[in-house]
Amino acid sequence: MSERSEVSGLSGTGPSGTNGSAEYVRRAEKLDAADELAPLRGLFTLDDAVYLDGNSLGALAAHVPGRVEDVVRRQWGELRIRSWEESGWWTAPERIGDRIAPLVGAAPGRIVVGDSTSVNVFKALVAAVRIARGEDGGTPADGATAHPVRDEIVVDASTFPSDGYIAASVARMTGCTLRPATPADVPQVVGKRTAAVLLNHVDYRTGRLHDLPALTAAVHAAGALVVWDLCHSAGALPVGLDEHGVDLAVGCTYKFLNGGPGSPAFLYVRGDHQDRFDSPLPGWNSHAEPFGMRGDFEPAEGAPRGRVGTPDILSMLALEAALEVWDGVSVDAVRAKSLALTDFFLECVGAYVPPGLVESLTPAAHAERGSQVALRCAPGIDAGAVMKLLVERGVVGDFRQPDVLRFGFTPLYVGFADAERAARVLAGALTA
Ligand SMILES: *Cc1c(COP(=O)(O)O)cnc(C)c1O
Repeated sequence: MSERSEVSGLSGTGPSGTNGSAEYVRRAEKLDAADELAPLRGLFTLDDAVYLDGNSLGALAAHVPGRVEDVVRRQWGELRIRSWEESGWWTAPERIGDRIAPLVGAAPGRIVVGDSTSVNVFKALVAAVRIARGEDGGTPADGATAHPVRDEIVVDASTFPSDGYIAASVARMTGCTLRPATPADVPQVVGKRTAAVLLNHVDYRTGRLHDLPALTAAVHAAGALVVWDLCHSAGALPVGLDEHGVDLAVGCTYKFLNGGPGSPAFLYVRGDHQDRFDSPLPGWNSHAEPFGMRGDFEPAEGAPRGRVGTPDILSMLALEAALEVWDGVSVDAVRAKSLALTDFFLECVGAYVPPGLVESLTPAAHAERGSQVALRCAPGIDAGAVMKLLVERGVVGDFRQPDVLRFGFTPLYVGFADAERAARVLAGALTA
C-alpha cells in the first residue's frame, strides 16, 4: 500500500454526498473476498452496526458468556474454594500472561495479568526508577558503581490522563522532576539525570505510532529505563518487547484484546530485570510464600512478583476465554489488514467527504500509524453531534473533546465494506 499523504488534506475527488461510489463498493467487496482473517468475524457477537470502537471496548467473542457461566455456576457455585487449585484460579495471572506474551513478542514467564493499566503504570514506573538508581540493591542501570543522581522522569507530553497523573505522583514520591516531552524529542531530552521514561506506543487520541525500537535504544543510551504503555498496540500490531529490549511495559486487555469491560491489565518485566523488580505495591500475592502469612516480605521469583492482591477471577477468566480467538492468528496478518483497512477508510473519506470538513490527525505513513483513524472536524462543526448522528445511523466510533472523531479498526471483526460504509455515513452526517 502506498502512503497517502494527500489524504490528511482530504483533497478528495469531490463530494458524492451520501451515495456510495460503485467503485469503492466494488473494491471493498474484492478486498473482503481476499481477506484471510474475514472468517474470524463469525467468532464475535455483532449486529448490523459498523463497530469502530474496539479501541475503547473490544467486541464480545460469542463463546465467552458460556465460559463465564461455567466459571460462576460450576467453579464458584459447586467447587467453591477448591477452584483455587482445581480450576486453576491461583495461577491464572501468569497463565493468561503467557497467552498474551506471543502477541506482544515476549517469552513465557515475563507477563502477569491483574489490576488496571493505571495501577500497573504505577508499579512499573516506580520499579523503573528504583532499578535505574540501583535502589533495588543492584547495580544502577548504567553500570556506574556510585549512584548517579538520576532525578528526572520523562513522560510523553500528550499521554493518556492516568499515565500523566501517575507519572507526576511517582515523581513526587521519588524526589524526581517530571519532564514532559513529545516522543520525537525524547532522544534529545534524556541524559545523565533521567531515571525513567514513560511512553505510549500508540497515541490514544491521534492514533500515531511511536518508534519503539529507536526510542528504547535512545533511553538506554542515556542509562535510563523505559516503560511502554501498549494499550493501543497490544492485539493491533507487532510490538517485539523482548527483541527490542524494552525494560517494562503495561497494557489494556479490553481494547484490541477484547477481554471485556474492565478486564485486568498486563505487566511485562524484562527477563534480566525480574530479580530487580522492586514493586511499590508488595502484597501477599507477590510473596515467595503467600500462604506462609509471614510478617516479612520476601518477593516471589519471576512474573508473580508483579501481583498484589487476590486476582479478579471473573474478569480474568472471561479474558482468558476471549483470548482463544487468537489461536492460530498471526499478529503480522492483523497488522497488514489493519493498515489496509485504515488506508481504504482514509481513501473513502477523501473521496466522499467534501474537502475542508475534516482532516486526519493520524499519520499517513504506515510506520507512524496505529490501528485507528482520528479525524479533526473543521471549526464550526459540532464533532460530538456528528458522532451522535453516526451512531444513530449504525456507525459506532467515538468522540474526543473538543473536535476529534475516532474510528478504531479491529482487523479480527472489521471488514472493508464496513470501512466504506463508515466513510459514506460520515459524509452524510457532516453534510446533514
Ligand atoms: C485505555 C488506556 C488506559 C486505561 O487505563 P485503565 O486503568 O484501564 O482505565 C491507560 N493508558 C492508555 C494509554 C490507554 O489508552
